[in-house]
Amino acid sequence: MATVGILALQGDFAAHVAAVESAGATACEVRTAAQLFAVDALIIPGGESTTMLKLLEMENLTEAIQAFGASKPIFGTCAGAILLAKEVINPAQFSFNLVDIGVERNGYGRQLDSTIAKLYGSDLAGPLAGSELEAVFIRAPIIRRVGPNVKVIASYKGLPVLVEEGRHMVATFHPELSTHNPVHKLFIERLN
Ligand code: GLN
Repeated sequence: MATVGILALQGDFAAHVAAVESAGATACEVRTAAQLFAVDALIIPGGESTTMLKLLEMENLTEAIQAFGASKPIFGTCAGAILLAKEVINPAQFSFNLVDIGVERNGYGRQLDSTIAKLYGSDLAGPLAGSELEAVFIRAPIIRRVGPNVKVIASYKGLPVLVEEGRHMVATFHPELSTHNPVHKLFIERLN
């Protein structure tokens, strides 16, 4: 069975551990480079991307994650999506450039700090076509640009919110907070 590491420096990593386990894989918290290189895939949770960047530096994990992502799958949710993007604005900051997307931090603005949306019909494509999805947004980024090899799996109000490129996946919402959550399964399926 595949082991999925959850970056556990900051943010809502505990909910991801539970989501991975209920999707049928083994979950393991990752705080060091040695722990990272022992897992088959990584989830970077939501939280505060600037704080996470500082903690990654302190733990010598920045280069380790860059190297890990060159051959193993990474799933970034919310702040994790910001870290995986190619470009970040509002403001600009370092990112791993593992998924060819441009993101705007806190793109929905302060008025719409958090919301729970029901996605269905034309919001969903590919493996989620014909299903329904609850999406919890918390100070979410907006994906403003997607590259030619990026597949959009879910959109909200016409903007992509769940995408994949090659082995990596990105969600601007928090699938780990929804009871009926098909998204972690989608990520884990690629490890079989
Ligand atoms: N607003 C946060 C950031 O810019 C992300 C919020 C989240 O992960 N829920 O890093």
